[in-house]
Amino acid sequence: MKAKKETRQFETEIQQLLNLIVNSLYTHKDIFLRELISNASDAIDRLRFNAQTDPDLLGDDTEFKIKIKPDGINQTLEIADNGIGMTYDEVLENIGTIAKSGTAAFLEALEQSRQMETLTPELIGQFGVGFYSAFMVAEKITIITRAAGSDTAVRWESIGDGSYTIEETTKESRGTTIILQLKKPGKDESDYTDQWVIRSIIKQHSDFVAYPIVMDVEKDEPIPDEEQLKDKDGKPIGETTRKVVREETLNSMKAIWARDKKDVTDAEYEEFYKHLSHDWNPPLDRLHMKFEGTTEYSALLYIPSRAPFDLFNPERRHGVHLYCKRVFIMDNCKALLPEYLSFVKGIVDAPDLNLNVSRELLQHDRLVLNIRRNLVKKLLDLLKNMEPETYDKFYAEFGSALKWGIHIDSDNRNKIAELVRYRTTKSEDKEISLKEYVDRMQADQKEIFYITGENLTALINSPHLEALKEKDYEVLLMADPVDEWVIQSLNEYDGKPLKSAEKGDLALDAPDDKKKDEYSALFGFIKNQLADKIKEVKASTRLKNSIACLSSEDNDMSAYMEKILKASGQSVPEVKRVLELNLAHPVMGRIKSLFDADRKNPKITEYCELLLDLAIIGEGGKIDNPSRFSKQVGDLMTGALEA
Ligand code: ADP
Repeated sequence: MKAKKETRQFETEIQQLLNLIVNSLYTHKDIFLRELISNASDAIDRLRFNAQTDPDLLGDDTEFKIKIKPDGINQTLEIADNGIGMTYDEVLENIGTIAKSGTAAFLEALEQSRQMETLTPELIGQFGVGFYSAFMVAEKITIITRAAGSDTAVRWESIGDGSYTIEETTKESRGTTIILQLKKPGKDESDYTDQWVIRSIIKQHSDFVAYPIVMDVEKDEPIPDEEQLKDKDGKPIGETTRKVVREETLNSMKAIWARDKKDVTDAEYEEFYKHLSHDWNPPLDRLHMKFEGTTEYSALLYIPSRAPFDLFNPERRHGVHLYCKRVFIMDNCKALLPEYLSFVKGIVDAPDLNLNVSRELLQHDRLVLNIRRNLVKKLLDLLKNMEPETYDKFYAEFGSALKWGIHIDSDNRNKIAELVRYRTTKSEDKEISLKEYVDRMQADQKEIFYITGENLTALINSPHLEALKEKDYEVLLMADPVDEWVIQSLNEYDGKPLKSAEKGDLALDAPDDKKKDEYSALFGFIKNQLADKIKEVKASTRLKNSIACLSSEDNDMSAYMEKILKASGQSVPEVKRVLELNLAHPVMGRIKSLFDADRKNPKITEYCELLLDLAIIGEGGKIDNPSRFSKQVGDLMTGALEA
């Protein structure tokens, strides 16, 4: 027996880590309890694991639990477990020493980022601050631990000043007790001896720990009849209740993701979802899976029935919590799902996770990447196989988010393309899939036509679609801003190219070269007149009834995209568009006759402006000079009525 008490120094790195924790995690103080409970739970896990080969380790102490003992008078908080405990050497090895490789470099980087004030609590917090986080709330920490199978115990103590003492001691039973001498809570700080504070932290962070986390709680209990003082008539006298202390379990322990699907009821799934999401509505659907392969993990994911109001806010918290062996590691785990699926809520429990990886580095962790790839696949499959009615509900809420996936997730682009739905010129008020579109394409149709814009009614009536409608070609109506990004990334579906109805040539009919030649002088004149507003004047391939429309070149930005970007405050380079004129329209013939008779006729100049205004109004745009337009039309009407 080592009778003497030793005083030892922390390793330099530990002292450094300690300083970092105390100085940077102070807004996250509550997590110390999670860390200590998580260590306790691990210690029990390890004991159970070892007991599989050495059952004597357990003795008759087989009721595993983690006991929390707050003491408001002495300002102490105890966390006791009956796990594996530590020997003297193990304490020396584990506490006050860092065995993790790369620690020194990591700490150096941390220290640097702290000096530059870029240190985020996550960075240090996810390093696995573990035990040391207790120094945020404690001015002195005492560990009393007895290893399973050992008769003696160890007492370790430190005030976090770079040194600690260690000595042998006695302890009645196996396991580790951590005693925190708490710092005086500052104003607005939690009192960690307050049972309600403890309850709430445990509920939030350790609810699904697999062992009971218990606390002695004083309660009023009715005095049993035989012990109740009574008068001679048998009526109770004095107090009818008395204060008793009962051990209460503070966590639900329901690691329902770890249970077999068939053993979990819908109600339990729903309760867990609500607990997790703080959502009042039941989820729309869920995915519960255990994956046992090279990567082992379980996941329980939910699709909410309603989209959050800030679905597209990149700052919004992601909904997946990460657990490791049923111990909560982190919430808001962005690494587990891509941004376009960030509305999914749930948990992933990855037992093999490297807990020393920072939140930032987690994105590059191979195991995490593997899980993420799988989750995305399973979620997309879930969506694909949903009942149409459920899917419609989903799509109404989250369709926009999903479409974003086409832009950012090139690996799954084709899968997501199967899931998107659009209104079309023929679908009435239903939305159809691209597959349905392709199935109903005309025999001679080679492309999937679409048009983007703000307003469905304007789109469906757009002059750009006249020729397509005459051919009975269906056109996708894309009225969601995100559609502009969809079409940037989705060049084709099922081998059929996507083609904008308002860009480039539609090439539906063979061009009439003779007519083109006839009009070339007039077009040159119009182009000259409108040179600062348009890029080109062309005979239209898409108009049938209207006189004029504007189109873009194939690679130019659409008018809708320009509008979206401007609305979001971005400066957009001015892109001139092409004025298309319908040579089959009688008015064009008349203008041409005027022009051929006298090129200097001032009416022609006037009509140039009018043609452009008509094109703009036809697509629901804003003209430069509405009062001039109004006067011109008024004059024309007068002329027509006089004739
Ligand atoms: P981590 O848990 O990330 O390894 P900690 O600093 O929290 O880091 O703990 C260091 C080590 O101390 C643990 O790995 C474990 O071996 C030991 N330890 C901590 N708490 C306990 C406990 N309650 N029972 C047994 N061993 C413990």
